[in-house]
Amino acid sequence: MKCSCCGEDHIICPGDLGRPSALFAPCPHCNPHIRVKESPVSPDEIVNGPCQCNRRFIDDVMASLYQVLQTEGVIKGTEPLSALGTPLICPGLFLRRPPVLPSRSLILISDLISESAAEIAYRKVPELLGVVYHSHEFPGPGDVRCGCEPSIHEGRLLFGCDVRADIFLCGKGPVIIIKKQADLHIEFPKGIDPKVMGVEEQVRRFHPDVFIDACAGPGTLGITAALFGVPEIIMCDVWHASVWSAIQSIRVNKIKLGISQISIFKDISKCPPVWGGKPVLICEATGEKIHIRLYNGSYEFLGSDLPSGKRLTVFDPFDKDTFRKNDQFLSYWNETIGGEVFIP
Ligand SMILES: [Zn+2]
Ligand SMILES: [Zn+2]
Repeated sequence: MKCSCCGEDHIICPGDLGRPSALFAPCPHCNPHIRVKESPVSPDEIVNGPCQCNRRFIDDVMASLYQVLQTEGVIKGTEPLSALGTPLICPGLFLRRPPVLPSRSLILISDLISESAAEIAYRKVPELLGVVYHSHEFPGPGDVRCGCEPSIHEGRLLFGCDVRADIFLCGKGPVIIIKKQADLHIEFPKGIDPKVMGVEEQVRRFHPDVFIDACAGPGTLGITAALFGVPEIIMCDVWHASVWSAIQSIRVNKIKLGISQISIFKDISKCPPVWGGKPVLICEATGEKIHIRLYNGSYEFLGSDLPSGKRLTVFDPFDKDTFRKNDQFLSYWNETIGGEVFIP
């Protein structure tokens, strides 16, 4: 699928996936050689280029990046290889061994690199998709409750693209979730995600007509419920990047979810970064047996927009411990919205 951010065709769809791990598995000629990450890379070393399969072992990609950054004066050459930052593969999935990378499949999260060095690294290292500046804070609006000022943290894309897919496995096969990585926290799907499994279990147990993903993020739990046949899905989030990512997640899973039409009512990129007021309908996706509505706003004011039927609400807020102690809100939800509530 074409990326809505950079326009390149670098977003994988469920239909493109055979065995997902095969994307990063070595061919018989790859010869991956694991490096010691605590050591620097010598400027004189001739680092392996891509293999005849057009992919290259991640440690060689990182070593090549190290040499480029040393030439650019970003690092002195005494730092360990691991100092460059955190490499994230695209798509993200659980792997049993380090990956062999196709072109434009690596995002580096780093606090060392300038914009100009990121651009040079992108041009010289073909596996690099993007470089994101990491501010050592979780990206997002922090704790958003009525009356509190949100403490916004956003990462910054230095060069390339930071839109990536994460692949989660569920009982209905892979779920693909799209994230704009600079603005959302990093999740590593470890094969089976416990939250995804939790949704699967709750949906099988209660057979809801309506699934409310109250802190939807990039849409992981709402899309999982849709895959398990819940006909009415409501997703809501206060954070612009979550809503943007959830729209992309709906788009990428469109065929698998049986969606025939996606309507966008408001351009989320023109909305404020955090909207903690009454939810505004941003996107609606419909098909013969599926109806998804995605809102930007606070779930606290969601009541009047909810379809009738047996309801199951999932609350997956950033600070779950504080949320669980909010008895007043939970009993309000119980009385006005009703149905089952699940906090994964
Ligand atoms: Zn892109
Ligand atoms: Zn190869």
